Amino acid sequence: MKELKKRIREEGRVIGSEILKVDHFLNHQIDPVLMLKIGKKFANIFQKKEITKVITIESSGIAPALMTGLELEVPVIFARKKKPVTLDEGSLVTEIFSFTKQVTNSVFIEKGMLIPGDRVLIIDDFLANGEASLGLTRIIEMAGAVVAGIGIVIEKSFQEGRMRLEQAGYPVFSLARVASLNHGQVTFIDEKQVQ
Ligand code: 5GP
Repeated sequence: MKELKKRIREEGRVIGSEILKVDHFLNHQIDPVLMLKIGKKFANIFQKKEITKVITIESSGIAPALMTGLELEVPVIFARKKKPVTLDEGSLVTEIFSFTKQVTNSVFIEKGMLIPGDRVLIIDDFLANGEASLGLTRIIEMAGAVVAGIGIVIEKSFQEGRMRLEQAGYPVFSLARVASLNHGQVTFIDEKQVQ
């Protein structure tokens, strides 16, 4: 997605050689116009997959997930990182290691939020080692629902997330694929290789 790559080039800040900071349009301040375009793009990619729900993890996945759900006209669920007191017994829980925070969190969704027969689209802001997306696939399958696709806004292709998800049988569609962040520079995988 050309516009997204332009924004990453112009506004992204590289931290070390592994972290990309895009706090001006995705992770802190959110650009709703860009998010809507991202939602339209994902909706277009997954339109034939008969998606019944979109799922993400709070908080940075919510904006692109919401816009995708808006375009597909399906509900959007965000897995919670803190167990709310209102959560019913029997909620679905899995452990996810956070790449940016370097801690393991339990993430929760309410029982009954996903039902057998649901065809669920996972949307996330970044793909690094695949822990977040793999955690969501576990929760979807615990509920007896089906993973119908995975859509990622920014994939860091030099990390192993894509390989792990594909090996587990889940195809990944990313809007921007970063080949490297070496020397503070963002290099993308050739546009033609991006689905
Ligand atoms: P994974 O679970 O694939 O290892 O990492 C993906 C999650 O970690 C995303 O949900 C995102 O919140 C966070 N993350 C991973 N890499 C980056 C990065 O370079 N920049 C930002 N802002 N978040 C990242």
